[in-house]
Amino acid sequence: MISVEEAQERMLAAIQPLPAITVALAEAAGLVLAEDIIAQEDLPPFANSAMDGYALRSVDTRMENGRPARLRVIGTIAAGYVAEQAIEPGTAMRIMTGAPVPRGADAVIQIELTRSDPSDSSWVEILQEVAPGNNIRAAGEDIRRGQRVLSQGSEIGPWEIGVLATVGQARVKVIRRPRVAIVSTGDEIIDVGEPLQPGKIRNSNGYLLEAAVRRAGAEPQRLGVARDTEESLRQVFSQAMQHDLIITSGGVSVGEFDLVKRIMNEQGVIDFWQINMRPGKPLAFGRIGQVPLLGLPGNPVSAAVTFELFGRPLIRKLLGHRRLHRPQVEVTVEDGVSERTPRRHYVRAHVRREQGRFVARTTGHQGSHITTSLLNANALVIVPEGGKILKPGETAQALMLDWPEE
Ligand code: AMP
Ligand code: MG
Repeated sequence: MISVEEAQERMLAAIQPLPAITVALAEAAGLVLAEDIIAQEDLPPFANSAMDGYALRSVDTRMENGRPARLRVIGTIAAGYVAEQAIEPGTAMRIMTGAPVPRGADAVIQIELTRSDPSDSSWVEILQEVAPGNNIRAAGEDIRRGQRVLSQGSEIGPWEIGVLATVGQARVKVIRRPRVAIVSTGDEIIDVGEPLQPGKIRNSNGYLLEAAVRRAGAEPQRLGVARDTEESLRQVFSQAMQHDLIITSGGVSVGEFDLVKRIMNEQGVIDFWQINMRPGKPLAFGRIGQVPLLGLPGNPVSAAVTFELFGRPLIRKLLGHRRLHRPQVEVTVEDGVSERTPRRHYVRAHVRREQGRFVARTTGHQGSHITTSLLNANALVIVPEGGKILKPGETAQALMLDWPEE
């Protein structure tokens, strides 16, 4: 048996990020930037006002004998327009936030620090002296022309999109979103809309994995259920080979009908591992043709947990992310874990913050067929290998499934 970490390392070493493509800016959200972004202009592109107020010469704001300065108002500059006139000594212009500062002015005073006669707006009284540069956003203060604003490998979130828009990047080079084929296997599996028949169960994994793959940032395609025959699997795999990654569930343990391994051996290469973990001991990884294939166990809980530990990091690597794994944190396990298992146990739990520490409560019966143990779980409490139990109130590490990767 190999450790979870060893299996993760081996799998991740076998794949590379996908090639870059150019997409419209709005489609780049959630993807990884595949180029450095160098600003072609200063930002702000011109000196502009940070306030609604008056543009003026700071020397003209000096009081004389304690009396406020009076300036002649020669016009108004709205955002989006450039003043034709310049500010001369003894004059000011009304200016709106974001409007270009007119020639001759070296400061803006906010409207609240001025007084004007409502019946005669051609004069303004300046109630406070201001220094040069007051309320002026200098050109290039945010970004200088030639500056690298974003680096290759950055994840593009809403804030990065905003900056990319600012610098005029209507299209960006990103790592392509992987297309992932999802294959369920088993003669017992029927589709979700069908009534149950003797010996049959509904396809839970196909739908679960489709949603999980989408949440990981890839584009899933559910290819349906392969029968437990070599022909059926070959047929589904021939379709699956059009994708960047194939994820199967079931058919990888040691039973007579565990055919996924057989087809992988026939059409590609296979690494089959017993992983020192519970749930989800049997796992296959390899290729069908040139396409990487991750063979998850069939039990829905095992499929879900192994997807989080192996499938999601694989997809993130294909997407070009550098942060691949969920963070771990120390938690106090309120109710403890009494089931003993020689393998490392990933116990579904809900972790909450309470008085500055993290407290976990497990989600009940932890059998790998108990699908409801996944509900309300946002973490996996890790009970180390070697048949240990956790007494109520003991601490353990937990893998936080709803915290961003680090
Ligand atoms: P297997 O690995 O094929 O032996 O499957 C292990 C267990 O998982 C069996 O009880 C299967 O019925 C169950 N199983 C396999 N595939 C699915 C699926 N797509 N949805 C729900 N249960 C499944
Ligand atoms: Mg099966």
